[in-house]
Amino acid sequence: MTVPPPIALLAELTHRCPLACPYCSNPLQLVRKDHELSTSVWLDVFQQAAQLGVLQLHLSGGEPAARPDLVELMQGARDAGLYTNLITSGIGLTPRRIGQLEDAGLDHIQLSLQGTNADLADWVGGYKGGFDRKMQVAAEIKARGIPLTVNAVMHRHNLDDLDRTIEMAQELGARRLEVACVQFHGWATKNRGMLLPTREQTAETKRKVAEAAQRLQGILAIDFVPPDYYAEYPKACMGGWGSAGVNVTPEGKVLPCHAAETIPHLQFETVKDRPLGDIWYKSAAFNAYRGTEWLPNPCKSCDRKEIDFGGCRCQALALAGDANATDPVCSRAPGRAAVDAVLAAAHAGDNNEFTYRIAAPPK
Ligand code: SF4
Ligand code: SF4
Repeated sequence: MTVPPPIALLAELTHRCPLACPYCSNPLQLVRKDHELSTSVWLDVFQQAAQLGVLQLHLSGGEPAARPDLVELMQGARDAGLYTNLITSGIGLTPRRIGQLEDAGLDHIQLSLQGTNADLADWVGGYKGGFDRKMQVAAEIKARGIPLTVNAVMHRHNLDDLDRTIEMAQELGARRLEVACVQFHGWATKNRGMLLPTREQTAETKRKVAEAAQRLQGILAIDFVPPDYYAEYPKACMGGWGSAGVNVTPEGKVLPCHAAETIPHLQFETVKDRPLGDIWYKSAAFNAYRGTEWLPNPCKSCDRKEIDFGGCRCQALALAGDANATDPVCSRAPGRAAVDAVLAAAHAGDNNEFTYRIAAPPK
C-alpha cells in the first residue's frame, strides 16, 4: 500500500500540568521533567516534520505553557513553515506571554473548558481559581483577535450545561466549539463510572448540537465527539492508524495515537534514535495496523472497513483484552458485551467522587 505523509504532528511538550482533571487521557505514568526533550531536539523535530510533509503542528501537553521555552519553540515552528495550534488550559499564559507567542508565530489557540462557572470548572479541574484565570486569558485572546477554538470536555456532570457552553463559546469570541465527550484512555479510565453520561443525556446532546450547528451556521462551527460507548459503530481512530497524524511524547517516543503505548507488543522508537520520516514509513509499530490487510473477522468482510478500519486498537485492548480485535464498541463486534457491562456498572453504583489526576509528575 502507498503510505501518505502525516498531515498533523501533535507535540506533547510536557506532561507537567497545574490542573488535575479526572478525565485526563495522558498515561498513568507521566514523563518526568528531566526526561523531556530539549529545546534543540524539539526544533529539529519540527524541521523534520515539515520536510516530511506535515502542515499543522499542535503544541500540547500536559500544559505546554509549563515549558519556559514555549516562545522559542513557537518561533521554531514558524521558521519550519508549520501552522501552529496551541492546546492549553490557559494557566501559565499572561498577556505578555500571549503577545510574545503571537509575535513568534502563533496561529490558533485551543482553550479547554472544564465548566461554565467557577464552582463547576474548579471542581472538575481540581484547581481552585483556575476558571477565573482562564477567563482572563480568554479575554486577552479575544482582544488580540487570535483565532480560538473552545474545547469543552463533556461528561455526566456538565453535559446538562450544554446550552450555556454554546453561549459562552460565542461570548469568548470562539470561531469553533468542540463538544468533546470524554474518551476513556489513560487516567480517565479510573473515573469512567463517574464520567460516563447517560444514554438520555447523549441523545439530548446530539439533538442540541445539531440544532445549534444549524442555527449558528457562519457564526460558530460546532464539532461533536460523541461518547464511544453508545455508538453503533466505532470511529476511525486518528483517521486510521498511521495514516494522517503522528504524536511525539515529551520524551520523544513517536506514536500513531495518544494511547498507543498501552499496547505491550509494539515497540515505539524515539526521535533521539531515528529520523521521524523513517519511523513513520518503516517502523514495525506504524505498519502493524495500517490499512485493512490485518483486520480480524467480522471486519474483514464488513462494508464499513474502509470507513473505520475496525475502530480503535487501544480501546480493543482495554475492553476486549486484545489489540487485534474488532473495537468492542461496534454493534457487530464479538466483544460488544464488555461495553454493555461497563455501561451497566457505571450507572448502577455510587460514583460520587473523582479520582483526580496527580497534579505533577514525581521529581
Ligand atoms: S490534567 Fe487536564 S489540563 Fe492537564 S493535561 Fe490532563 S486533561 Fe489536560
Ligand atoms: S465490524 Fe469492524 S469494520 Fe465493520 S463496523 Fe464494526 S468495527 Fe467497523
